[in-house]
Amino acid sequence: MLLKLDPDKVRSEEITDVEAICADSVFKCYQCGKCSAACPAAPEMDMLPNQVIRYLQLGMFDKIMQSKTPWICASCLQCMTVCPKGVDLAKIMEAVRTVHLRKGEGVLDMNKCDEDYKKRAPQIALISGLRKFQSLS
Ligand code: SF4
Ligand code: SF4
Repeated sequence: MLLKLDPDKVRSEEITDVEAICADSVFKCYQCGKCSAACPAAPEMDMLPNQVIRYLQLGMFDKIMQSKTPWICASCLQCMTVCPKGVDLAKIMEAVRTVHLRKGEGVLDMNKCDEDYKKRAPQIALISGLRKFQSLS
């Protein structure tokens, strides 16, 4: 039986945000698996890179949020160099992390950190936190 994906039916709010942030469509991917075969971090992942895209295509963002894969991705771009469809998975992983953080889960709240940590926290972490919460508009 042929299963046909209708992007307009499965595109949830999170998937729309991911595509807006990375300025690309997750539906370009046709699941050849070359990205996962080339990914140097795949042995440490609990969900392969092509599976992340598949869950996005199915509108199952919650499934990805339970995985550590987007946080393990090293943005090395190896996957993009082998992808026959030119999918930039590093950008998609970053967009997934951003959408995840905007949900407010696992976010570092500086108001709750002790003074010692605030002095030691790298400034780049603060800048990064601000960028993640910038409005999409
Ligand atoms: S290599 Fe590209 S087309 Fe193939 S599964 Fe990965 S992202 Fe999809
Ligand atoms: S960018 Fe991420 S998903 Fe792509 S090969 Fe590197 S570690 Fe793997």
